[in-house]
Amino acid sequence: MPAKPPLRSARRVSGLAEILDQFDAVILDNFGVLSLGGPAIDAGAPALAAVRRSGKPLRVLTNDGAKSIEAMLVGHQGRGYAFRDTEIVPGYRLLEQTLAGHLPAKMERAWGVIGLDPLPLPALTQQMTPLTYGGIDEVDTVAGVVFLDTGDWRETDQQRLLASLRAEPRPVIVCNPDLTAPYPKCLSIEPGWPANHLADRTGVEPVFLGKPFADIYDVALSDLDHIPRERIIAVGDTPHTDVLGAHAAGIKSLLVETGFTRGRDAATLMEQAGIVADYIAATV
Ligand SMILES: [Mg+2]
Repeated sequence: MPAKPPLRSARRVSGLAEILDQFDAVILDNFGVLSLGGPAIDAGAPALAAVRRSGKPLRVLTNDGAKSIEAMLVGHQGRGYAFRDTEIVPGYRLLEQTLAGHLPAKMERAWGVIGLDPLPLPALTQQMTPLTYGGIDEVDTVAGVVFLDTGDWRETDQQRLLASLRAEPRPVIVCNPDLTAPYPKCLSIEPGWPANHLADRTGVEPVFLGKPFADIYDVALSDLDHIPRERIIAVGDTPHTDVLGAHAAGIKSLLVETGFTRGRDAATLMEQAGIVADYIAATV
């Protein structure tokens, strides 16, 4: 994990619109900020409208590895959010280059992939061996494992993967470092959870793509490098991804209380984690 930001106290604000004039670009998280998986969060539409009125560039930085960017755009549209495809930046945007770094010149084994149909990045993932939907029996044959989503991943699959990696350690690339995501009535288990479970038991060190790691911020901001990082605000609901990642990338952070911390005292949680945002608000 990146280093923690210096301890300070978060300034409470009414939402993004109140501080927007202090920034030149905006990064939004989706889950817990704009939506709870399916349903939209009420304050999302007016907050997005304020960003659009300001004309400031916007990126939606998401650790969602379940869907293609096109499918994410359709989902956002259904919630009343209009984004351009270039504004959506999932962690898996780093997958192709990461795989290239792992591929020996003559790689004869296919990678295994854990995710939901239809898999994102079909040009890459259709060449991989699906380990979900009953495909786990192929696990011993794969060159390494790409973890996109836990939607069809079961405890028995995890145990089978664990045994296979113990017998022959191979690389594990995790396109969603999150441990959990906030749904309306529950918290889910996301790929970061089984990846850490594997790492603890096999010694294999997973490669994590997405927040809070710096590379995905470089991708998201690649065409905004004329804007000083401290003039960029990232809005998120999770201290260990959105706040830690923003700090590591040199940008400012606003933690909203509609996702991971909902129903709990977010300010106290941040202090306990030692990861305190620049700003805190009840909702975006
Ligand atoms: Mg979130």
